Parts: sequence; structure tokens; C-alpha cells
Amino acid sequence: MDFPRGQTLVHSDFRQDEAVSCDFAVVGSGAGGAAAAWELSGHGHKVLLLEEGRHFEPEALSTRPSWAYRNLYQERATRIMAGNLYIPLPGGRAVGGSTLLNSAICFRTPDRLLEKWRTGHGIGWAEPEQLRPIFEAVEREIGVTKTHPTQARANNLIFKAGCDALGVPGDFLSRSAPGCIGCGLCQLGCPIGGKGSVDRNLVPAAVERGAALFTSARATRLLVENRAAVGLEAAVLEPLSERPLRKLTVRAKKVFLCGGAVGTPLFLLTQGLANSSGQVGKHLRVHPATGMCARFEQVIDAWHGVTQGYYVDLEDSMLETFSATPDLYYTQFRAFAEPIEHLRHIASCGCLIGDESSGEVRPGLSPGRAAISYQLLENDKRRLLKGLREIGRIFFAAGALEVHAGIHNAPKAHSLAELEAQCREEVPVTSLSVYASHPLGTCRMGADRAAAVVGQSGESWDIKDLYIADASVFPSALGVNPQVTVMATAIVIARAAAG
Ligand SMILES: Cc1cc2nc3c(=O)[nH]c(=O)nc-3n(C[C@H](O)[C@H](O)[C@H](O)COP(=O)(O)OP(=O)(O)OC[C@H]3O[C@@H](n4cnc5c(N)ncnc54)[C@H](O)[C@@H]3O)c2cc1C
Repeated sequence: MDFPRGQTLVHSDFRQDEAVSCDFAVVGSGAGGAAAAWELSGHGHKVLLLEEGRHFEPEALSTRPSWAYRNLYQERATRIMAGNLYIPLPGGRAVGGSTLLNSAICFRTPDRLLEKWRTGHGIGWAEPEQLRPIFEAVEREIGVTKTHPTQARANNLIFKAGCDALGVPGDFLSRSAPGCIGCGLCQLGCPIGGKGSVDRNLVPAAVERGAALFTSARATRLLVENRAAVGLEAAVLEPLSERPLRKLTVRAKKVFLCGGAVGTPLFLLTQGLANSSGQVGKHLRVHPATGMCARFEQVIDAWHGVTQGYYVDLEDSMLETFSATPDLYYTQFRAFAEPIEHLRHIASCGCLIGDESSGEVRPGLSPGRAAISYQLLENDKRRLLKGLREIGRIFFAAGALEVHAGIHNAPKAHSLAELEAQCREEVPVTSLSVYASHPLGTCRMGADRAAAVVGQSGESWDIKDLYIADASVFPSALGVNPQVTVMATAIVIARAAAG
């Protein structure tokens, strides 16, 4: 077929097996893939963006979690890490990748971390001044603004009140949600298109610049000749069953892998490629998080207002308010949400850390599924417990009647003293209730080819013209929500590869 410049093709557009040529084939349309495709197409290259999930307009989304899990999430939202505890690890599988269902929180990469990457891993471009215009461009494209108190509403404002009472410095979160009305449904996909997930900005802008987007198209095999990537094979899938319908052969001058920190190592490990360092799939970091609910006398209705609107940076952890839909609160925090009238009086806040703990992604038992392991270290557990104690201190200062920490079987605590007794350092790792949604680091970047999968240009140390430009290339955890760093990194890599 001719390169379908500026077009989006869905599974039913493919009536037979097809072959197509382009300059750049980009696998995955999440934060990294969208930013790479946007940058590459801006240089006038023929860019083909392949996404295994579907494209959804806001009106096609549903506010039912079960629908969202089935249609928008990797492994229908059952992806889990197993190790010294089980930790859910959700991710997106649609145009927009995980940004379609994220909370839109935006942080630039902390300067202290960029310095570590520069000095410890030989990543020369990790310079705040060099990155500043790229961060600005990303923030402009995805519509970053600071949460306004009127959008934040009670769940966020009550936490702020506790911070203010104690003199704890906090702030409203900046988010890529320029049209947000505070309906609290971010993680089901924004039903009004108010969130600046990349399917609403970078992807359509790339298509406008001439890129082609193939949805329901899963890259299955890299084509390598003379140790250089020359394209890939992909399967066009029946969207819900994921049954392969057609085969696509893509010839490309360069290939970008942006399938995320689970999808990209899975793609490479399944074929035994680009792994002379033995590091593919290793060093998984996830920003583990735990949380707390607090019950107040007054009505909170946490599901009204932005999903995550206020934060406190404790330096070794980040406290961020969160909310869920009433049905999720009820199922997740059952002990706390009964009698059901209590549900309207609950506020909640989480604590995430930049982890030293690590895990590994390996091919799983069935095709397309990863087996993910992760061991939470004692020191990281202690940081999470410290974060819980601080959240409790803030909620009690705001007037909480009782709080429920993310510790299995912990009773409700009616005072800070009771909470501190529950969150003491001896609490075993296995007692913590942990969640993670920021997989990173499984194809790390670095100057030492024996210890890294790609060099600072994002190009594989082993296969010429093969680039990785997603969350998998980070050589450490960030300790802040990663989407802006993922996009900026992908732009740096794409700009250099575009020539
Ligand atoms: C529930 C949730 C909430 C979050 N909240 C925030 C937040 O508020 N702020 C923030 O900064 N970050 C947040 N994140 C994390 C952030 O969204 C991710 O770090 C970021 O999107 C990662 O970008 P990526 O390009 O590496 O992967 P993704 O965005 O996950 O994109 C990968 C894409 O590749 C596709 N893919 C994979 N393999 C293949 C293949 N073989 N062929 C074709 N396509 C393939 C996938 O379907 C997916 O669409 C959240 C994540 C989740 C899951």
C-alpha cells in the first residue's frame, strides 16, 4: 500500500495483508510514542505510528469501571507484580497509552535527578537549561495549568486545610487538563475531552503533520539486517478478542520502540534482541504508593472535584490527594465505607516514593503477557510508613474523626497516637497495601554499554537504527509523576534521530 499520509486506519480498513514503507516506524502511542511521532513528523519525515489498542473519542467512553478496564487497560486491568507482596500495575492500551487514563499530574524532572543522570550515567543532555524549552513546549502542547481551588473541591481543600493548620508547605498540582470540570473520572478516560491526554493533542498534531496512525496494530517482530533495524512486522487485531486478522510488513529507515516499560522489554525479550548487556527487563522501578482515607463530620463527596489536586513534597516521598468513584471506594475501602452513609464523608490521600526497590519484566506464560516480579525493600517500606504518618497528622489537623491507613487488617485509628502505633517501622512489608502505576527503567540508558540497553541518543547499543523512547529508558526512579519527563525525553531522542 502507499503510505497513507495524514490518515488513521483501524482494523477494518485492512482487507488483506499489507506492506508499507516509511522513514520512522513508532511502536506505541502513549506519552513517549506520541511525543516522538510529533517531533519526527515536525521534521517532515514519513512517520508510521502503530498502536495495539483502539482510538476513543470522549463520547465513546463509559463511566463504568468494568467497561474501562476491559477496553482501555493492559491485560484488562489485571496486570500485577508478584514478589514479597502483590502489587497491581495498571497501564493503558489505547491511543494515548497510559495518558488516556492517568490523573494528568505534571511535574518537570527534578534538577537533582538530572544531575545524577548526567554525572552517574553519562547522559549529557540531562541539563535543566537545555531541557527548559522542551518542557515548555510539552506543557504548551498538552495544556498544563495549575489546579484552581474551585475545581479542587472538598477532597483536596480539606487536605490543604490540614497542611495550612500545621504550616506544612503544599500546593495545588499542575495538570494537563485544560478543560477539566472536576468530575473525578480521569482513570476511566475523560468523558468530556477536558484532559490533555496525548490522544487529544500530540497524536492528532502528528497526524496533521502527515504521520499515519494504525490502531489495533501490534508490533510482533523487529526486522534486522546487518545488525541494523530495517522495519517490523505487526498483527492487525480484532479489537476485543485480540485475535490476529492481518499481517503488516513495515519497512522503515529507523524504528522507535515506545511500548512502555513493560511492553518494550517484552517485545525485545520475546525475540532475544538488543540484550548483550543482559539488562533488558531489569531495574524495574514503579513509584510504589500507599494511601489513607479519613472520615470527616462534613460531607466531602470526594468524587466531585479533580481526581488529584493537592500535594506535599516531603523530599523522600510525595503526598498527593486522590479520589475514586463511589463504587471503587466502596469495594476498595469496604471496612471504612460502612455504613454506606460514611462514603460521602471520606477524603483520601496517597504517598508515593522514588523507589530503590526493583523488579523485573520477563515474558509470561501466554503470548503478549509479562511476568513481572518486584521486591519492596525495607527502607522503601519505612518511607511509605513515614508518609502515612504524615498524611494522618495532616488529616487529624483538618479535623478527621478517624482514619484508615493502607495496612491490611489495620483497624480505624481515632487519634494520631493510635495511627502512629499502627504505622511503626516493624510493620512487615507484607502488611502494606501498595499500588503502582509508573513502571520505568527496564531498558535503561547509559554511557556504559555493558550496563545499559541504549546510549544517551536512545539508540540501542546492539542494533543500529533501533531507538527506545519511553519510560523504560530512565536510569533511576524519578520520585515525581513521570509523564512530562517521558515526553521530554522522547523529544530529545527524536530530535537527534531526525537529523
Ligand atoms: C492509572 C494511571 C495514572 C497515572 N497518573 C499519572 C499522572 O497523573 N501523572 C503522570 O505524570 N503520570 C501518570 N501516570 C503514568 C504515566 O501515564 C506514564 O508514566 C506514561 O504514560 C508512560 O509513557 P510510555 O510512553 O512509557 O507508556 P504508555 O503511555 O503506557 O504507552 C505505551 C503504549 O504502547 C502500546 N504498546 C505496547 N506494546 C505494543 C506493541 N507491541 N505494539 C503496538 N503498541 C504497543 C500500549 O498499548 C500503550 O498504548 C499514570 C499511569 C496510570 C496507569
